[in-house]
Amino acid sequence: MIVTNSSGRGNGAPPALRRLSFMTTMVPSTTPATTLIGPGRQALDSALLQLDRAADRLGLDDGLRTMLATPRRSLTVSVPVRREDGRMDVVQGFRVQHNTTRGPAKGGVRFHPSTDIHEVTALAMWMTWKCALVGIPYGGAKGGVAVDPASLSTRELERVTRRYVNEIMPIIGPDRDIPAPDVGTDEQTMAWIMDTYSINAGRPVPGVVTGKPMILGGSAGRAGATSRGVLISALKALGGSPAGRTVAVQGFGKVGAGAARYFADAGCRVVAVSDVTGAVVDRSGLDVDALRAWAEETGGVYGYRHADALSHDELLELDVDVLVPAALEGVITAQNASRIRARLVVEGANGPTTPEADRILADAGTTVVPDILANAGGVIVSYLEWVQNLQACSWSASEVDAKLRGLMEDAFDAVAAMSAERGITLREAAHVIGVGRVAETHRMRGLYP
Ligand code: NAD
Repeated sequence: MIVTNSSGRGNGAPPALRRLSFMTTMVPSTTPATTLIGPGRQALDSALLQLDRAADRLGLDDGLRTMLATPRRSLTVSVPVRREDGRMDVVQGFRVQHNTTRGPAKGGVRFHPSTDIHEVTALAMWMTWKCALVGIPYGGAKGGVAVDPASLSTRELERVTRRYVNEIMPIIGPDRDIPAPDVGTDEQTMAWIMDTYSINAGRPVPGVVTGKPMILGGSAGRAGATSRGVLISALKALGGSPAGRTVAVQGFGKVGAGAARYFADAGCRVVAVSDVTGAVVDRSGLDVDALRAWAEETGGVYGYRHADALSHDELLELDVDVLVPAALEGVITAQNASRIRARLVVEGANGPTTPEADRILADAGTTVVPDILANAGGVIVSYLEWVQNLQACSWSASEVDAKLRGLMEDAFDAVAAMSAERGITLREAAHVIGVGRVAETHRMRGLYP
């Protein structure tokens, strides 16, 4: 039985959004290229609209509303990189600390050609609400470098990473701001971040970054944590037995491939998967491990012989029980939302559904487990990794998994209860809880001076 998705009415275009939209116009656009996915500006507009609606429900005053809409610190840096042929390129990097009221800032670093200050700001804001929602003592941050990692050699990638870390060094640290993996970065990137920071500090500082390899103080269970959280929240939303439920996954990277594996392990039928190279479908169920091996060998799912090809759009519109968008923002929009046939959408990605699409899905009775809940498993286990680093200890995979499950299920239950009680969607309820906790912390701390 799917959790009922109430269709709480939005407030149209609230005046406060117009007040807050200065943030999206005062920052010069640095987006170098368009992609299949909506631009960062749209993500920031979505994040501000969600904040405004939560603030309306919470009755927040204008001052607090503006404070919550405004990043605490935004840093844009130039990252010069020496290419293999001796040329020098310069790319832009960003680190945005949206809020640090409840704890040090926390959030991933994205390497993607179209990332910009707007996207990174939106992602940092979502991190703030996410950490508050799952009850871990962090603020929200995000970082990005506008570069395509696939176009760089390993040595170039290392040089970009180390120089970027050097540029943002003044504002990161284990008790200030702790980066983690996101799109286009991985354990190796985190190892370089840890090393660069530690060399400059003159001592090993494992707690400066999470998602590290185990050998450097990484946590058991971190690599699959976001995907495990996606499965945990999907099972809570579905209720009943997962056996035989059909699943389509957009994005076959760290989150999507892991989620596909866990859904298959849980007895679901993963019928379709896509990545940037293409999409494949097999209604009788894909062999996730074989597909992963193919993608690793060839660079993507395109051309996988034991399934049929389909388009990126068709994957999103398949008639399945569960759709997991696990790529980038802005993929379920006003244009395609009415064609989404999945009964349940579980947002592995951040910001995959625009506010207009959200309304269309809610009106159609489609349940959406929102990003700040569904993909919180990653930051939960990042938090556990950081705690282990600070205490110089390590926990077993089963200890980590039990803590992850407990925090995810508690957060899900709180969101579902508020959704049912107030007749609002799961996303609206998640934002009311997350924004409400941050607002309350601001009130208790007061305003300095
Ligand atoms: P990743 O770089 O490992 O994988 C991204 C995947 O998306 C790749 O398979 C890529 O080919 C695919 N992709 C890109 N454009 C696509 C398109 N147009 N259609 C289909 N697939 C496309 O990144 P990731 O870490 O798996 O992150 C994916 C999403 O999950 C992001 O929104 C990220 O912010 C979010 N997220 C990640 C984590 C984490 O721990 N890594 C935690 C929380 C949220």
